[in-house]
Amino acid sequence: MHTTLERVLAKYPHESYFIEATQEFFSSLSFEVEPTILEQLLHAERIIMFRVPWIDRDGITQTNYGYRVQYNGALGPYKGGLRFDPSVNLDILKTLAFEQTFKNALTGIAMGGAKGGSDFNPKGKTDAEIMKFCQNFMIELHRHIGATIDVPAGDKGVGKREVGYMFGAYKRLTHSFEGVLTGKDIAFGGALGRTEATGYGLIYIVNALLRDIKQDLEGKRVVISGSGNVAIYAAEKAIAEGACVIAMSDRSGYVYDEAGLELQAIIDHKLKGEPLETFTGARFVHELPIWSVPCDIALPCATEGEINERDIKALAINGCKIIAEGANRPLTKEAVDAIQASDILYLPGKAANAGGVAVSGIEMSQNAQMRAFTFAEVDTQLKAIMESIYVQIRNTAKELGEPTNFLKGANHVAYAKVAYAMKAQGYV
Ligand code: NDP
Repeated sequence: MHTTLERVLAKYPHESYFIEATQEFFSSLSFEVEPTILEQLLHAERIIMFRVPWIDRDGITQTNYGYRVQYNGALGPYKGGLRFDPSVNLDILKTLAFEQTFKNALTGIAMGGAKGGSDFNPKGKTDAEIMKFCQNFMIELHRHIGATIDVPAGDKGVGKREVGYMFGAYKRLTHSFEGVLTGKDIAFGGALGRTEATGYGLIYIVNALLRDIKQDLEGKRVVISGSGNVAIYAAEKAIAEGACVIAMSDRSGYVYDEAGLELQAIIDHKLKGEPLETFTGARFVHELPIWSVPCDIALPCATEGEINERDIKALAINGCKIIAEGANRPLTKEAVDAIQASDILYLPGKAANAGGVAVSGIEMSQNAQMRAFTFAEVDTQLKAIMESIYVQIRNTAKELGEPTNFLKGANHVAYAKVAYAMKAQGYV
């Protein structure tokens, strides 16, 4: 391991997730990274941590912890989601902010990388409690963000409702109506197409890859984990392109139909708050991982670490040819290594799920211009961005002599953009 990497990471021995992600990233580069840049890229530019007191429905003051990791601002204002979940800690947020920096670089839009959130658990809270928490969270965060400084978005536990409450709080605290958050309601600056963006973008990049190997989605058997935002819109677009989505999952297990799932029925069922376990429109399985289903294309769209080495072997044996990550880091390190030893083509999340942040970038741009793009305008831009990401990472992988190593291609392209800007700005 590079001595700078070893020395810096030794300072954070408890941050195992961050250590794994950074080691994996830098070891994928085929050259020795300049020590100054390496040292800077191993440290967030700024980490803000704060206490969030709020009053619950019984009038009792609760205390949570809030964070914003402004990881790297070389390419534009810091940009990345806010996550409200009990699992939130600095290790996870630093890792996601590090990854976000490179994902954002791939989009070609002027955005730095950040991530933030709180260990607040929105599950089981009343609407008023959520509102109070969001307002109190913003009482501290508003000092550190702004339309040209840092533009947070939603993530797990933070949807349109929470973004709206935080936007309202920011507006009152700063006396400024500006594009400080993305993922807003369409009524006050949100972008049409943001909801669909990550799922649609995933299919656009898969299509770009398929075109390259003289194939298309028509008749392909697709397995998608999750049945949330990313999964649903990936399924919708895949079906529209002629694919057959044969399995989808949630925390309770997966549903399967060789003839193709009835997507609208699944959406309606999940909207009622029901688990797939009680869905009667297809066979339900919970004893086996969804990755045991034979398919041509696997799209992990649920959560971190959901595919392990054993799953990759099962997918390869069953004929899977493409894995594209809709979720963030859904493959374990061992799974990523196992893919490199198989003939599965792998599109890593920092490229494959960049559609969401790309449309957030489009939302920033329409807010700055005080206008609103149509759905078709947004969708056309999204498609062009995803296709451009594919071309960049494919060409770089080719230049590196490993034409199907899109992970290496993506890391090299993204690193080059970020490192160039850091150096050109005087190593900051
Ligand atoms: P949602 O919360 O809308 O959906 C998540 C889905 O995954 C739900 O169906 C959930 O099941 C399922 N799920 C969660 N954990 C597990 C598990 N351990 N096993 C099986 N299923 C599970 O999230 P999103 O669709 O928005 O995000 C999914 C992933 O994509 C996350 O990793 C997120 O960070 C990433 N991502 C999202 C973007 C976006 O724009 N939304 C952008 C880029 C990345 P259940 O219904 O039972 O809760």
